Amino acid sequence: MAEIATGGKSGKVVIQNIGLLLSGDIDKPILDADTIVVNDGLIVAVGKYKDVDVEGARTVIDCHQTTVAPGLIDSHVHPVFGDWTPRQSQLGWIESSMNGGVTTMISAGEVHLPGRPKDIVGLKALAITAQRAFDNFRPAGVKVLAGAPVIEKGMVESDFKELAEAGVGLLGEVGLGTVKAGYEAKEMVAWARKYGIQSTIHTGGPSVPGSGYIDKDVVLEADADVIGHINGGHTSLPEAHVCELCEKSSRAIEIVHNGNEKTAIAAARAAIELKCPHRVILGTDGPAGSGVQPLGILRMVSFISAFANIPAEQVFCFATGNTARIRNLKSGLIEVGRDADFVFMDRAQHSPAAGLLESVQLGDIPGVGMVMIDGIVRCGRSRNTPPATEVATVVSNAH
Ligand SMILES: [Zn+2]
Repeated sequence: MAEIATGGKSGKVVIQNIGLLLSGDIDKPILDADTIVVNDGLIVAVGKYKDVDVEGARTVIDCHQTTVAPGLIDSHVHPVFGDWTPRQSQLGWIESSMNGGVTTMISAGEVHLPGRPKDIVGLKALAITAQRAFDNFRPAGVKVLAGAPVIEKGMVESDFKELAEAGVGLLGEVGLGTVKAGYEAKEMVAWARKYGIQSTIHTGGPSVPGSGYIDKDVVLEADADVIGHINGGHTSLPEAHVCELCEKSSRAIEIVHNGNEKTAIAAARAAIELKCPHRVILGTDGPAGSGVQPLGILRMVSFISAFANIPAEQVFCFATGNTARIRNLKSGLIEVGRDADFVFMDRAQHSPAAGLLESVQLGDIPGVGMVMIDGIVRCGRSRNTPPATEVATVVSNAH
């Protein structure tokens, strides 16, 4: 399914017989519940089957004792337009990522657009156009929050005001444009914040020729909301500097797939040791030189759980509720009133583990059995993950 109309309403959906319900909430990652009730795309009840109102459901989903988690959020992507990326000339990368459990993506800049404008009126026009285009078009139902301008020298406060008033809520990675000095970045980040625009800074060495180097002192001085790819994209700062950023800044610690894997683990461990696991969020930083990673977020969850030795249920929060809270999203947590965006998973077939969490902690990626966005089933058994041992099924679909 390539495109699903976003206007369709799910009606009442009952998701029952859940074996393990992951909340996305780092303070309470596992819920004592086996049923979720959804109405028109929103969660209306979470609890034990006998305690919730399951009457009159249009759709009933039997999870066969498998795991349900909030849909995964990729905190760092570089979309362009539609479900296409010129970086590796690939079509369908967003739909493919949905098959990896991703239901929301956040742009860190539409940087791969061929001929991307770098003059101020042009970069503003691109950001507004990208925001509008992805607001109007959701590939495979995936919510792509785009329109993230790459700031350039010469921008003034009124530019940020104008962008915010036009609906732009994000800055592209600070440092990808001509603004690379700490003092300049700091001023523009503060203007963005004043008008409600969230900022991310590039951390580490240049990603591809033409991109720049941003060291720890610039990251600290700029004080962007998100320390973008703290583990480099790809080239990382020295491990000691990465740990210093975790310690001295209170901003979000973003770890990405297309970064340095050794410092990814160091950053995750630093967050645990500093008792701030709620600051950790995950992204792929794709599409990029490393290609696109449809399973990138799932791979990060398994990799960090296994190598940083963090319980899998907590690491799932890095890819869901933490990001939702830091980025003010309505999805990402299993809570009444939130968006009904879920990933249904089970341990992959022939994983030596007894259950899903253990399989992740062993370093295996789980099998996705179904993905739901806004209460609507977007895919069944994933075409991309290893096969889930058991999959959720739609047992009734009345119209
Ligand atoms: Zn970057």
